[in-house]
Amino acid sequence: MSALPPPARRAGALGRDSAFDLLVSVNRLRAAGRDVISFGIGEPDVETPPTIVDAAKRALDDRRTRYAPSDGLPELREAIAAHVSATRGIPVQPGQVVVAPGAKPFILYTIATLVDAGEDVVYPNPGFPTYESVIRWMGARAVPMPLVEANEFRIDRDALEGIISDRTKLIILNSPNNPTGGVLAQEDLERIADLAQRHNCWVLSDEIYSQLVLEGTAPSIASLPGMAERTIIMDGFSKSYAMTGWRLGFSVMNPALAELMTRVETNIESCTCTFTQIAGVEALLGPQDHISAYIGELRERADVVVALLNDIEGVRCVRPRGAFYAFPNVTGACERLGLWRAEALADRLLHEAGVAVLPRSCFGNRNPRETGEFVRLSFATSLELIHEGIGRMKTYIESGGKAL
Ligand code: PMP
Repeated sequence: MSALPPPARRAGALGRDSAFDLLVSVNRLRAAGRDVISFGIGEPDVETPPTIVDAAKRALDDRRTRYAPSDGLPELREAIAAHVSATRGIPVQPGQVVVAPGAKPFILYTIATLVDAGEDVVYPNPGFPTYESVIRWMGARAVPMPLVEANEFRIDRDALEGIISDRTKLIILNSPNNPTGGVLAQEDLERIADLAQRHNCWVLSDEIYSQLVLEGTAPSIASLPGMAERTIIMDGFSKSYAMTGWRLGFSVMNPALAELMTRVETNIESCTCTFTQIAGVEALLGPQDHISAYIGELRERADVVVALLNDIEGVRCVRPRGAFYAFPNVTGACERLGLWRAEALADRLLHEAGVAVLPRSCFGNRNPRETGEFVRLSFATSLELIHEGIGRMKTYIESGGKAL
């Protein structure tokens, strides 16, 4: 039999989202009877509020089951425009809003629409792995912007000068950040905005955790003078409204760009699921108290997670300011166990202590001058499991790696 033709060269450029791979491993171990506590997956541990579910049911009963406009249902775009105007303090018209099945598609839509092969795209590192993956897929040059522990995982403002240049077409930001829980301060955003304007770059601001702020505020770069027109705000319903499986997200941008982005949507998706969009209208216009209740819980858990992790010899953890992730430095724990890298530690914790965490390498290659080892824990799980899981980590690490 003759060999099949090879896939396109660009197919190999796409990476994986390791959080999904870990989920498969955890499920396999559990199916084999192992007791595994997972701090792996980044999704809220609460159900979608019943008012939102009911709105979708009503929409189905009303047979809202046909195609919708590619850029979204007018009533949803209107609700999103009002929501973003209020939360970011900038005027937003419905014509600036594009709706998609999740926030994630906008990473591809934005890079495909704005960046040519060979141009630079700056992205946060450690960061959500899809950015680097899609930058490379589109043939652009991926330029990491380091987030450093010493600075509570904000950017190193002095280092930015060499990273953002006339070659830069697009700067990707993510605040609150996955995987570090860090939040960019107003002065960080001012510095980036200044460079973006000086070098004439676009900014994709991934604000998917904008409503899950645990300490202080998480300002949007789009609110800074002169920035709204060059910023694409990316947000959605997955995290704030516990709607990860519904697939509903949106972006806000200048109207001319919204038209170009809608063309991408027309050619790829046609439109976003119609009855899901109607549930989205209810999410934005209906009761919001479940969000503050959830934030209250996340704050309490963040306190516990940070205290428990800092109580393990060889582990230290910066307090997350947003999202539901802790990103402890585990260099000392690796040394104690004679391990070189956090990947080996995560592997041993999974198989010998029954605890699933994601190593730093799932969120990009280490930056020059980065020496520490890190893992990510998602604390979108109960306090009871947090105590049990981090307790197992402590016992395992402090015993020098005796299997539990
Ligand atoms: N951006 C970041 C930083 C995320 O963590 C996630 C979800 N893990 C997404 C985007 C994707 O969100 P959605 O489910 O709405 O596509």
